[in-house]
Parts: sequence; C-alpha cells; structure tokens
Amino acid sequence: MSEKTYFVRTFGCQMNEHDSERIAGLLEADGMRPADSVESADVVVLNTCCIRENADNKLYGHLGQLKALKARRPDMQIVVGGCLAQKDREGILERAPHVDVVFGTHNVGRAAELVAEQRAAGRSIVEILEETVADDHEAFPSALPARREVPYAAWVTIQIGCDNNCAFCIVPAVRGREISRPFDDVVDEVRTLAAEGVTEVTLLGQNVNSYGRDLTLARRRAGEDVRVRPLFADLLRAVGAVDGIRRVRFTSPHPKDLRPETIAAMAEVPEVCRHLHLPLQSGSDRVLAAMHRGYTAERYLERLAAARAAMPDLAVTTDIIVGFPGETDDDFERTLEVVAEAGYDSAYTFIFSPRPGTEAAERVDEFVPAEVCRERFERLRVVVERSALARHRARIGQVEEVLVEGPSRKDPSVTTGRTEHNKLVHFRTPERLRPGTYATVRVTDAAPHHLVGELVEVTAPARHRTRIPVAAV
Ligand code: SF4
Repeated sequence: MSEKTYFVRTFGCQMNEHDSERIAGLLEADGMRPADSVESADVVVLNTCCIRENADNKLYGHLGQLKALKARRPDMQIVVGGCLAQKDREGILERAPHVDVVFGTHNVGRAAELVAEQRAAGRSIVEILEETVADDHEAFPSALPARREVPYAAWVTIQIGCDNNCAFCIVPAVRGREISRPFDDVVDEVRTLAAEGVTEVTLLGQNVNSYGRDLTLARRRAGEDVRVRPLFADLLRAVGAVDGIRRVRFTSPHPKDLRPETIAAMAEVPEVCRHLHLPLQSGSDRVLAAMHRGYTAERYLERLAAARAAMPDLAVTTDIIVGFPGETDDDFERTLEVVAEAGYDSAYTFIFSPRPGTEAAERVDEFVPAEVCRERFERLRVVVERSALARHRARIGQVEEVLVEGPSRKDPSVTTGRTEHNKLVHFRTPERLRPGTYATVRVTDAAPHHLVGELVEVTAPARHRTRIPVAAV
C-alpha cells in the first residue's frame, strides 16, 4: 500500500466542498492518507471555484506558493480541479507549468486515477470533459467514496448542472445541463449515511426545486404513462422517512420553481428543517428581467407568503446582488423595500463583480460605479441586520433544539450548536458535549448573526465514530 499523503484545499460553495470530500475519499481508496499540512503532502489538490470574486487571483496566488514548495520537493504532485479548471483548461498549465494534473467538473470521479497516471507518465495531464454522461452514476459526487468533513452531517448531491441562464452566473457553463440523480440512489445513500450515524443531511443541487423533472420526462419518453413533474417534494418525504435521520436541509431552491407541493412537504415532514434559503437577487422587476430570473418581486413575495402561511415559524434567508449592470437608484430602492417586506433572518449580500464568460460581464457600459455600490451595500446591510435582529429577538424565551457543532471558535468554554432554523446558538454546558449531540436550549439573548442560550437538556447523543477534516478556505 502507498504511504503517500494528500491535502485538499477547497475554494467556493458547498457543492465544491462536497466534491472535495469525494476527492479525498477517492485518494484514500487508492491507499493515501491525509497530510497534516500542504507543506508535508505528496499530493496537493486545489479544488477551485470561479463563482466568487478574484477566484483566479486566489488560485494563481496559491499556485505561486506551491511552485517554491515543488522546487524543494520535485516529487510532489499539484492537482487543480473544479470550476476554474473546467473554464481555463490548458490555460492553467500555460500560467503555471508546475501543475501536474488538471481535471474539470465532469470527471471528479477520475481524480485518483489521473494522479496515478501522471505519476507513471511523468508529464502533466489535462483532462476536461465537455459534459457529464447522464447514465454515469459516478457523475454524482455522492456516488463516490467520501471522507466527510463532519461525521454526523452529510451533503448528498441530488442534481448536477443547471438549465437556467442567469445573466451573472457561470455555473451553467462550467457545470453543464441539469441532470437529476436517480431517486432510489439518493434515498439509498441517505439510508447508508444514517446507518453510519449521520443524522442531518443537506440535499445539494443548483436548482433543487426542479429535481426529477428530467427523470419523469425520460420515463414518459420511454412510453410510461407518467406526468412530467419535479419530484423534489416526494424526495423530501422519502428522505425524511429514513430511520435515524432527524434533519433534512436543502440548497438551493429557485424562487420561480418553488411549488406548493414542496411547501406542503416542508410543512408536513417534521424532519425537514424550517429554513428556506430563497435567493431574491434583486427587488426590481427591471433588474430581475435583465438577470433572466423568471419571476417578479410580487411573485417572489407571494411564494414567500405561501411558505410562511404553511410554516409561521419559518426562517428565511436569501442572496442579493448590489449594483447589477444598469441598476438605478430606483431599482435599488425597490430592493430595499422588498427586503424590508420579506423580513429575512439573514442575507448573503454581494457587490456585483463580472464573471468572464457571462452575459452580465459584457455590459461594461452599464457597470455601476464602485462608490455607488459600496454606499448601496451599506444601506442594504443595515436593513438586513435590522430585520435579522428583530427576528432573533422574537426567539428570546423559546426552547429550541440544537445540533451541537463543538466548542465556539472565539471562546472554547462555550458550546455552539445550530437550530433547525440554521441559527447558531452559543451556550454553556456543565461538561463538554460531543459534536453531533442534540440538546434543547432556552434562548436568552440575540444578536444579528447568532443567539445565546442556556442548556435545558440533552435530547439525543451523537451516534457516529471518527472524523478527519478536509481543509476549506
Ligand atoms: S439558477 Fe441561475 S444562479 Fe443558480 S446556478 Fe442556475 S444559472 Fe446560476
């Protein structure tokens, strides 16, 4: 067995973090073990993202540091995978010839083989596939061996790619068209995870609400008498029914595809967490149309109202882009109005930055000046924090169940857990609680980004065994 070690560094979203778990799992299945640091690793994998700002600067900055390391240890293998690799391809080797392997988003399952092939060949390998083969079950990262970041909670990919064409987003270009993972494969994986002690699963996809539409379409084309429809609500019910699963989360749903069936499943299945992340992006219909989002602010608020009517205690979070090309003061005022009306528990707010290859990046003449964006961003932050604080204060006095994550990073004598509403709660315990434990806490204080509480009782002990972390940035 090889004594080689690996280190995976992840950039970007949960989808990428999940891919990294699979890359780590594949390398371990090939006989490697995790290294303590980049410096000591035989194989360093940078799993890249091109959605966040300055993604390429960050990647090439890291590659610059690795160049010096590789000069000292020529046997070290440097591997670049993920979205930026899919987009830049051979361009990565042109800018960083010391890279050994480049693979894309459609062949994560080949990571360990490519590392071995490169070692045998002694020359760099670039392998980028144009798209995923629909019936290749390894196309779904969840179908591969994994080294999970935490042992009590797991991501489960239900869908890859995206059929939408949001003007600011590079995902369809680098992740390809939308393909749903077979229903039974998802449920089987959740059963396996539950048997390993996992109690919380997060279903992952770019547009989870449309999960299964392609599966029913394929069955209909094959002659079956089925209605073409998404199966996401059915999936929530099936996953919630798996023995041992106490919490089901999902990300991200697209507002235009949020259906009554999904809201009903959320409301009726107690395991499905009362948290909805519903990306607004803008409150201006003009900007939403330019973004190709497929809904108006009114439609968005109607769907949100329907969800809240079914689940009065629902926590709602969102994503908002400030300064999309052509956004006027009036457009931005409309965003502030919708944000105030929606009453979010929190929001990920971003100043628009162009992603090369997207439609919005071409609209250079309409870019909003940086100082205007900064001023709008600050005004938005104030409105979001006001609503978050109000919603958090409304929880003071309530008893909530948390899933313990471990000691607080700021103060290790304090325990941190997360409620089903995805809120961090800090509380003290007479003795340390193992991560993965469920406990109830009474909320005693609130801040815009967290709650403070006191332990009431432990409701369920952690059931898993060990953990080995995968580093993320
Ligand atoms: S729905 Fe829009 S923002 Fe989300 S992944 Fe698809 S194209 Fe990107």
